[in-house]
Amino acid sequence: MTASPGQRREALVEVYREVAGCTRCPLHLTRTQPVFGAGNADADLVFVGEAPGAEEDRQGLPFVGRAGRLLTQLLEEVRMRREDVFICNVLKSRPPGNRDPQPEEIEACWPYLERQIELIEPRVVATLGNFATKRITGSPVGITRCCGVPQLHELAGRNVFVFPLFHPAAALRTPATLERLRADFAKLPALLAEEPPSAERRGEVVDASAEERADRELADQLDLFA
Ligand code: URA
Repeated sequence: MTASPGQRREALVEVYREVAGCTRCPLHLTRTQPVFGAGNADADLVFVGEAPGAEEDRQGLPFVGRAGRLLTQLLEEVRMRREDVFICNVLKSRPPGNRDPQPEEIEACWPYLERQIELIEPRVVATLGNFATKRITGSPVGITRCCGVPQLHELAGRNVFVFPLFHPAAALRTPATLERLRADFAKLPALLAEEPPSAERRGEVVDASAEERADRELADQLDLFA
């Protein structure tokens, strides 16, 4: 039976309460507050970033700093609204000084992300940057090589399109990365309109033109987008 938006919201609030009381990793000692995620509990599209930064830690909301403003703008450019999607992170607590997430922290927080995906039941999970992409695809292939190409995966017991994207913070630093991210955002409406992924196609890379692949290999060799 499919849950109503209200039921999903209530179930997410329960998970939020668990996150608020979570002591599975030491980050609960240094954070101001957890950043659970925000948006539409019934969304077809979930964005997963890396971890809250200083502003997110202060406000308790995901992607509310400069990178978040770019995310909102890119969504608007493809006629989508922030309120229609759900936005969260692999880590629900800020790593001190914005250092990289540690493997133990990622694993400690992973069940919360799985529950979020299980409850929201999105069609598309867009991963922002290397940490989210590698953990969610289960592959060491970096974002430069896989961005903008949907992959089929089983997540939280359901088949979903995983859509790797550059992190907006990287796009703020490098104009070529912003161009790439913008081009990949333009693919989102068509991906969301596709039939829900079937089990048979799992693990398949859905679409990558030969030209795009050649570009990526060159970028990878030259380490252009790293
Ligand atoms: N970067 C992230 O990965 N997540 C946020 O919430 C903000 C910045």
